[in-house]
Amino acid sequence: MAHQQNARARSEGESPPLAARTDTIAAVATPAGRGGIGVVRISGPRTREIAAGVLGSVPEARHATLADFRTAQGTPIDSGIALFFPAPRSYTGEDVLELQGHGGPIVMRELLRRCVALGARVAQPGEFTRRAFLNDRIDLAQAESVADLIDASSTEAAASAARSLAGEFSQRIASLVAALTELRMHVEACIDFPEEEIDPADRQALQRKLADIRSAHAALLEEARQGAVLREGLTVALVGRPNVGKSSLLNRLAGEDVAIVTPIAGTTRDYVRATIELEGVPIHLVDTAGLRDAAADEVERIGIERTWAAAATAGAVLYITEEGEQPRSEDAALLARLPPGIPRVRVFNKIDLTRSAASTHAVDKDAEIHLSAKTGDGVAALRAWLLQTAGWRPHGEGLFMARERHLVALRTAGERLGSAEGNSQAFELFAEDLRIAQDALAEITGAFSADDLLGEIFSRFCIGK
Ligand code: GDP
Repeated sequence: MAHQQNARARSEGESPPLAARTDTIAAVATPAGRGGIGVVRISGPRTREIAAGVLGSVPEARHATLADFRTAQGTPIDSGIALFFPAPRSYTGEDVLELQGHGGPIVMRELLRRCVALGARVAQPGEFTRRAFLNDRIDLAQAESVADLIDASSTEAAASAARSLAGEFSQRIASLVAALTELRMHVEACIDFPEEEIDPADRQALQRKLADIRSAHAALLEEARQGAVLREGLTVALVGRPNVGKSSLLNRLAGEDVAIVTPIAGTTRDYVRATIELEGVPIHLVDTAGLRDAAADEVERIGIERTWAAAATAGAVLYITEEGEQPRSEDAALLARLPPGIPRVRVFNKIDLTRSAASTHAVDKDAEIHLSAKTGDGVAALRAWLLQTAGWRPHGEGLFMARERHLVALRTAGERLGSAEGNSQAFELFAEDLRIAQDALAEITGAFSADDLLGEIFSRFCIGK
């Protein structure tokens, strides 16, 4: 469905840049450095010529062929396996050749140079996958999941990316789009009739169909929203005066899961005290300790602003005090300024000093956990609370590792479906809402995508993919 639409959108005039269709690209597809095997990948119309030049002949399709890779003078560069995938049954949908040689940087460079001398151009990051998308081998959501699978930092993240790559997410979108198309046809048929001629039963049928679409949409949005947690993580605002044991608790949480305590690559989160990973979910901890002091200078003032901005978007609050200690007024003032309705856990640390037992309670809507960062007693309960609040489920079950782009589109569609419900007596408005909702959903699988969006998505890929 998504593929058909993709082809249709293009046949209506949005053809991809000509160069993407006509030239031949090559890249080293394996990581830089030394390894058992290194792969040079070639895709495009000149692939057969390049195969003939490097190997002496075009290898049999889809068979592993042992061959010498040679220079223009006939001297060997390497000896390895050649794999030829004729169009259209290849990753990119074009003729593809993979040359598997020895994974040394010089060997790979020489092999790539040879391919370039024979007419290939060095590929841009993600260009093979971009071609796979442009040639309708995969849709845009699947293309993105290729990058997500490669970048996955946990088993759960990898599992959910693999499900998207297999097309599960796209199929769910496609079936929503199909249901919307059907409903739109129904509504548009009604527009042509005078109001009074429309059978009330018909109106009810429209309402029912819309309600079904809304509930399928809501379920998908929830799975996507939770899946986004695997990618974006949960931002937690830490509240607690100095020396209550915030650092000790973070180390304990991190250490128990052999976490990687580094900020997420490519993001500058200077207000984040630490990013820990629990079961593959990044937890960004924003320390609000500095917020109580008046700013001494400009730099500090900017720092405080950023911290507030981060805390204001936090998904949870961790309020730490010592066991036996009463809540403090300065903490209460801080807590009051954080967004209302945000999940909170109050941690009573250092139970080893008072010899109290570890325990967990729910008080009003908040959780209370008594623990010791020093001994680790009760820390599992805090970890479980954080994972639950993040919306984590084991093994990436039923989750799609959605990107922000997908969530925005799903939310737009949701707003329009809600508005359609309100407009169900005015068919023109109803039809317009449905159309916008459908377009928003179709954007996810790339049926109608602007070139700059594609550029943005594929430029973040690694070379050779
Ligand atoms: P922060 O300023 O809130 O980050 O607090 P720290 O983590 O630096 O801890 C302050 C002091 O309390 C240190 O001496 C820690 O060893 C101690 N501490 C932290 N957690 C515990 C605990 O659970 N039990 C005991 N007995 N001491 C703790």
